[in-house]
Amino acid sequence: MSHFINVILPLPLEKHFTYSVSPAEADFLQVGMRVAVPFGKSKIYTGIISKIHQQAPEIYEAKPIEQILDEKPIVTATQLKFWEWIASYYMCAEGEVLRAAIPSAFLLESETVVQLYKKIEIEERALTDDEFLLFEALQRQSSMKIQEIIQLLDKKTVLPVINSLVEKRVVVVNQEIYEQYKPKLERYVQLHSSYSGEARMHELLDNLDRAPRQREVVLTLFSLSARTKKPIKVSELAKEAKTTTATIKSLIDKNVLEEFHLQTQRVQYEERKLAGEIELNEFQEQTFSEVEQAFESESVCLLHGVTSSGKTEIYIKLIEKVIAEGKQVLFLLPEIALTAQLISRLQNYFGEQVMVYHSKYSVNERVEVYQNILNNSEKAKIVVGVRSSIFLPFQKLGLIVVDEEHESTFKQYDPAPRYNARDASVVLGNLHSSNVLLGTATPAIESYFNAEHHKYKLVNLNRRFGNVLLPKIEVVDIKEKHRKKRMMGHFSDRLQEEITETLKNGEQVILFQNRRGFSPILECNTCGHSPQCPNCDVSLTFHNHNNQLRCHYCGYHMALQKKCMKCGSPELTTKGFGTEQVETELKALFPEHKIGRMDLDTTRGKHGYEKIIAAFEAKEIDILVGTQMLTKGLDFRNVRLVGIMNADTLLNFPDFRAHERSFQLMLQVAGRAGRTKEQGLVLIQTYNPHHRIVQQVSTNSYVEMYEEQTEERRQYKYPPYYRLIRITLKSRDYSRVNEGADWLAKGLKQAFQENVLGPEFPPVARIRNEYYKNILIKIPQKQSISKTKKVMERIFTSFKAIGGFRSIKLVINVDPY
Ligand code: ADP
Ligand code: ZN
Ligand code: ZN
Repeated sequence: MSHFINVILPLPLEKHFTYSVSPAEADFLQVGMRVAVPFGKSKIYTGIISKIHQQAPEIYEAKPIEQILDEKPIVTATQLKFWEWIASYYMCAEGEVLRAAIPSAFLLESETVVQLYKKIEIEERALTDDEFLLFEALQRQSSMKIQEIIQLLDKKTVLPVINSLVEKRVVVVNQEIYEQYKPKLERYVQLHSSYSGEARMHELLDNLDRAPRQREVVLTLFSLSARTKKPIKVSELAKEAKTTTATIKSLIDKNVLEEFHLQTQRVQYEERKLAGEIELNEFQEQTFSEVEQAFESESVCLLHGVTSSGKTEIYIKLIEKVIAEGKQVLFLLPEIALTAQLISRLQNYFGEQVMVYHSKYSVNERVEVYQNILNNSEKAKIVVGVRSSIFLPFQKLGLIVVDEEHESTFKQYDPAPRYNARDASVVLGNLHSSNVLLGTATPAIESYFNAEHHKYKLVNLNRRFGNVLLPKIEVVDIKEKHRKKRMMGHFSDRLQEEITETLKNGEQVILFQNRRGFSPILECNTCGHSPQCPNCDVSLTFHNHNNQLRCHYCGYHMALQKKCMKCGSPELTTKGFGTEQVETELKALFPEHKIGRMDLDTTRGKHGYEKIIAAFEAKEIDILVGTQMLTKGLDFRNVRLVGIMNADTLLNFPDFRAHERSFQLMLQVAGRAGRTKEQGLVLIQTYNPHHRIVQQVSTNSYVEMYEEQTEERRQYKYPPYYRLIRITLKSRDYSRVNEGADWLAKGLKQAFQENVLGPEFPPVARIRNEYYKNILIKIPQKQSISKTKKVMERIFTSFKAIGGFRSIKLVINVDPY
């Protein structure tokens, strides 16, 4: 009797491949283990066993495997089912899902590069002879390929050796390095707490009569604090009081002053370290029990809670219950860098039980996290991560929280699988019989629709924590302001007034402009030409700080030209404006205040985000200008005013979700204002003050927005009423992409008639010298999705069989976002 295994290879193949194994191997092997197998002419890949059986493949002869890599499965049966669903729903290969799903260190293959783990201390005795040989070789040369290692060890089966060294943390493969951010500790001083109260202060000053230097320092500290209303750095005080840090130190030693660090300021949650110390207020308590009740009848619950209502605290209480039952929790976030605040809140509360999974972690760290979860370790009870963490090997998932569920970052664009982690988590929850909680202040229309149609339960929380009122939202008509000459650059008189007022009270300002750069477009007054990217069909964006024109799609850049490149005229004007210009204008308007900018350009460097966020929290920045990065659930304590520089660019974006998105963005950024004490203020500058969305934002009318938008979507056949599948054809050859798209659209129209739109060039039709053309398929609710996909696949197969079209790339995006 011959034995075979089916293997999923990390390649875009339609099927699993069958290999032959010996009876003894068949006996040892289990589904979910890794094997190294030959594929193609001379390549070796690591694959996952999906089935063990006795049926020889019909059309090819099964090759034997090279090597068994595991002693027990590293992929669970549930994961395999999940992969199958992802591949079939998002129309890609299971091999592509596999690549996205497990750390690349698990997938040794011919191309793998092996390096020594930095700063290791090795117990040489713990290594086998082969391992030691490789370890030694890697000390002489910085990296080695598998082929070189095969030569070195003089044997074919080297993957187990490497595997074992990865596990022993001696080597890394395909390394990228990520170091966790540690904010710099700044020393601050304040008057010692024993000197509160006027009497004690006079006493202190009298005492210091004979130490004029020290007295001077104390007085300077008073005046500095009164003037800046900010914590005072030791260095700042030394400078202002014209003294040395030694003098300040002596005052600290005498308990006149006390020092503290930025770090202790940042973590305000310390006092709630111990479990059970969070006290929900009555509204949170109510919400908490409604969510629990919801889970009794339905496994998915949408928590619609206004910004700063304390959703995190409710999550924490729910999580606590689930882990007490011995189950695991997955906490999905739209982004890690911007949500460091939330992660430290979870870590402060749950300590060691929280594990963060990050795509920027080094490959080894990812292996460690993966294995901890697989073993249901105490260290991985709560897994916090971005979208890809839905692929981790959970054993007993009890709850999935999707925070800020409306965020588009839950959708993967490239490469396949193009999944939406929010939607996929509902399926994952189902596979584990786990509950799923979607939380947000601005639900995605799809999610709210599902709640309205009783697929999800809906729970509302309308109060901010601490009974702070939601910010007051005021619309500023800038058309009118321009007419009345009340604009300074892009700042209305209202906005300037309120900024002045806010700064005067020592509070902070956030300004939102959803475009980076100085002014997006440079235009010639004489001939109307604006400089274009040579590789993409877009105008270049002007960046003032380095006098460059840049392409935001491919990174192409050139020096700013003084004259029009077409007609030579020196009269160039700028159109539109970005964050950089807002910053420049602000510096002129408020020269004595610190201004920070947060966008892709300023956060690119290592820990860019964290630095800016920490500086803003420490009040080293008074006004923070930024793009939509500012909207991501940040919890700042001292922001009174939020200004939206221009609502119109958001509203006019050519996409059926533009209105929904504008609403979400504006309401989220508004939610950064006035989170602690008094009510905050939001100013929305717009040329269209009567736009429905602007009105709905200003009155916080989510349901009204939802009803109007869904009505439009119904009329024009968009989600949630219709499902969309977008097919993008890409080629460097312009006429080929046109021909291919026409052929494909014709075939699809025969099958789906008027529910096929296009082919059509997208707004940016050429990127990095590839031409793009889209076809959109709309699937009515009644039409079977799986049948639709089968028909599509048949058409794709005929398409690929046509010689001239073989070079065209087909990208299929189910539920594009
Ligand atoms: P959301 O995520 O709903 O916008 P957060 O969870 O960030 O709101 O809560 C807003 C602020 O209120 C946070 O600073 C949080 O620490 C505080 N807060 C909320 N609930 C509580 C509570 N029960 N006890 C103490 N502080 C709370
Ligand atoms: Zn010109
Ligand atoms: Zn470009």
